[in-house]
Amino acid sequence: MNQVEPQSLKDWQELFAKTRLDARPFIGNQRSDAPISQFFDVVNPFTDKVLTSAPRCGSVEINAAVATARKAFEDGSWSLMAASKRSEVLCRLADLIEANGPELALLDTIQMGIPVSLAMPDIQLAAKKLREAAAGSERLFGMLLPSSSSCIALNLRVPQGVVGAITPWNFPLFVALGKVGAALATGNCVVLKPSEIAPLACLRLADLATEAGLPSGVLNVVPGLGPEAGRALASHLDVDMLSFTGSTATGRALMQAAAESNLKALHLELGGKSPQVVLDDCGDLAALAQQLADGFMFNGGQLCVAGTRLVLAQELATELPKLIAEKTGAWKFGNPLDPATLLGPLASRLQCERVRRFMSRASQSGFDACTGPHGENKNLPVPTIFTGVPSSAEIFQEEVFGPVAVSSSFDTDTQAIELANGTKFGLVANVWSSDFVRGHAVATKIKAGAVTLNTRTTHEPPRTIDASIEPAGESGFGAEGGIAGLMAFTRARHLLMNLPRPN
Ligand code: ADP
Repeated sequence: MNQVEPQSLKDWQELFAKTRLDARPFIGNQRSDAPISQFFDVVNPFTDKVLTSAPRCGSVEINAAVATARKAFEDGSWSLMAASKRSEVLCRLADLIEANGPELALLDTIQMGIPVSLAMPDIQLAAKKLREAAAGSERLFGMLLPSSSSCIALNLRVPQGVVGAITPWNFPLFVALGKVGAALATGNCVVLKPSEIAPLACLRLADLATEAGLPSGVLNVVPGLGPEAGRALASHLDVDMLSFTGSTATGRALMQAAAESNLKALHLELGGKSPQVVLDDCGDLAALAQQLADGFMFNGGQLCVAGTRLVLAQELATELPKLIAEKTGAWKFGNPLDPATLLGPLASRLQCERVRRFMSRASQSGFDACTGPHGENKNLPVPTIFTGVPSSAEIFQEEVFGPVAVSSSFDTDTQAIELANGTKFGLVANVWSSDFVRGHAVATKIKAGAVTLNTRTTHEPPRTIDASIEPAGESGFGAEGGIAGLMAFTRARHLLMNLPRPN
């Protein structure tokens, strides 16, 4: 039965009061009650109160989960099932995600502060993307190769095998489901290690997957800390592929772990410092200012694709940052359980302190700070644009993961491109110009997995079902989304069959 979406703060608080927070690991289609001696706290960043203590799983639980996934993979109950049948199970899971949307959104909200007003559409989008992955997997055609009449030569896409997934806290269920959905749709069995900041919705996903009919052992979810459970998964000798979203520093550690263990295939979606390039012919500044503000304010700037570098034509460099700072006020701060709230606290006190340290170093470097109507809020720094920032500055180069942007200016389009490409990252970029030919010329020279002209990167139309993004530079590698995103969870196999000779 579909849960009714709460309509007020009181309704959401009531749902919170009656929601069971179950952080036990999920291995072999059930919650595990195996004794565990250590726990970690899951904390609500809006209240700083402990929500629950989660089992601090390590190599013992990871080994058990990988063995279960391996057994499930080898028995073929999922990996050899017809793609159309797998697709049916995943579509049932998508229905269950939607039906339980309020609970899943609530779990993300209380753990990492994303307002329910964003978490609800996020969960619906996650279900939609799961259906897309399911549908796409039925179109992963193999090839019949030209060969002599005495044989049949095929090229097929086959699952990687046991896939480890390590995921971040910024959109806990959405990011995890992006990986898990693509991996399952292509016939893999999965061990997911969600972020220690927000493991609950991912664990709940596994309960729902069982309800949808996923065979035992196909999806396992193990809570734990990065250097413990995460590292055990990354170093495991029986994991065939590791898909990760998180920081570039952790991505490097995972490459090392893969190299030192079994050379498992890697899929890394890492940091970003995405440019929003505004040419002098961009048109209506007031409307654009809101879009530019939205680019680094969504989810408190805690998204790898946040448009945190404003690369502005010289004649806009004084006026536009002030306008954008004003527009940050549209993001109303409040209790994330209040449907009227658009901006909650950052995901944790530690994250907030980290962002504030970035900001104070930028201030000490002498950059002017441009702010709007926001004051100080608990666990949320004042949304700020540092202006006139050269590409050599730390705040220009490093991902902050908070409501903080920098602005830099250019005189020529060539300089704009240089600035846009002036970091180690290459995730997304937006270009704004009313001259299509000029805007297109700039957009094509920016190195990023997705470049948009006169729109922000979005999951809604005009995005198409088959759009895939593959990061560049130190933002990682491996496609996400669309057919290429599904192919990333498969490998090529050549199958050559000699035909019996006629007697
Ligand atoms: P953040 O600092 O934003 O949490 P991380 O890259 O540290 O970003 O974390 C993303 C995910 O990576 C989390 O699930 C975390 O537990 C995991 N992780 C962190 N360090 C390691 C590590 N050394 N090995 C494996 N996983 C890790």
